Amino acid sequence: MLVTKFGGSSLADAKQFAKVKSILLADGDRRYVVPSAPGKRGPEDDKITDLLIACHTAAKSGKPFLHILERIQARYTDIAQELGISMPLADEFAGIAKAISEGASLSYAASRGEYLNGMLLAEYIDFPFVDAARVIRFDREGKLLEEETNRLLSDTLHSLPRAVIPGFYGSDEEGNIHTFSRGGSDISGALVARAVNADVYENWTDVTGFRMADPRIVPDALSIASMTYRELRELSYMGASVLHDEAVFPVRRAGIPTNIRNTNDPLHPGTMIHAAAPMAPGHVITGIAGKKGFSIVSVEKDMMNAELGFGRRVLQAFEESGVSFEHLPTGIDTMCVVVEEKALAPHKETVLRRIQELVQPDQISIHEHLALIATVGRGMVRNFGTAARLFSAISSQGISIRTIDQGSSELNIIVGVDENDFAAAVRAIYDAFVRI
Ligand code: ASP
Repeated sequence: MLVTKFGGSSLADAKQFAKVKSILLADGDRRYVVPSAPGKRGPEDDKITDLLIACHTAAKSGKPFLHILERIQARYTDIAQELGISMPLADEFAGIAKAISEGASLSYAASRGEYLNGMLLAEYIDFPFVDAARVIRFDREGKLLEEETNRLLSDTLHSLPRAVIPGFYGSDEEGNIHTFSRGGSDISGALVARAVNADVYENWTDVTGFRMADPRIVPDALSIASMTYRELRELSYMGASVLHDEAVFPVRRAGIPTNIRNTNDPLHPGTMIHAAAPMAPGHVITGIAGKKGFSIVSVEKDMMNAELGFGRRVLQAFEESGVSFEHLPTGIDTMCVVVEEKALAPHKETVLRRIQELVQPDQISIHEHLALIATVGRGMVRNFGTAARLFSAISSQGISIRTIDQGSSELNIIVGVDENDFAAAVRAIYDAFVRI
């Protein structure tokens, strides 16, 4: 049995709804469906969730918001009319308008996109509708109560062979609505998959799974047919964003694979993400991802290695200012702290002063505008010379490597290069490992 989650672009208009229906009809095992709110129909369009948030923001500052709500209503009415669905949308919208004008919470307003889309979709495909407020449980502070949610979901869905459960929101025990962070319908889908013990959690979006590198940099980058949840974590952390970070945990723990699929190319198998998967013969790396906007703070002091507590004190200087670090490539007399530029910027002077006070270094220097590139692959551990191949690919382009970090798991080698060299370095790594 399969749980299918459809993202906003998969349900942006009536044409997309029709595609979703045929995907569901194509396999009777697709029994539980988790929809997002309608997304953009094109680059200039608005996401329904953004418009709902705009309604709430306007209402909160005493400004009119009904004209925005009317635009939202028009989107749903168009979908319903084109698909021949009859639903009391006018009543629903009157209720939402009243609630927002009476001070309903931001979470309530934002959640209405999924709620209404879930009702429309349920009607269209003739599945029962289960309001997520009944089955996804948060505490009063808005933290997911995962075990309670699991019980509620499995009890409710046990007696329903099919259902539509809207994504993104749930409620606390008093009935107040809470949402996940943006893109959180992925998490709802994973929770449903866990609760019904699905064979596969299908996550339908508008791309054919993960690609081995960002197609804006490597336009013909191959799709990744299969990867592990650990590789997914490494690649997502470094910017490959297809799935919400937190959607991994419920399914991974339950041993359920996630399959990223494309609603606009339903025959493409997409990317299958497993707990463990054999590496295709001849493949060493799974993917390359990277991000700009990092700085390296290098702290130098002779005999640093012999000074007990040196590293802790350097990190304390960052911690005191609430700046978290990404990596710590460290030598004998130098410790480098890689941090996000925007996190460091407001605290730069304080952090440097505190390092000075706490460890009296011989020298501190900052190297800014750095990009980090992660080359990820569970095949790296079994292949000799992976690092050498990676470094020579980059240096053959005349690019100098500012920092190197390789976790001992050998799943990931991270290099830091100047931001200006970012795209060329990614292409060089791709060419060295994939175009061979
Ligand atoms: N509609 C919500 C958002 O735009 C949640 C989601 O699509 O997953 O963030």
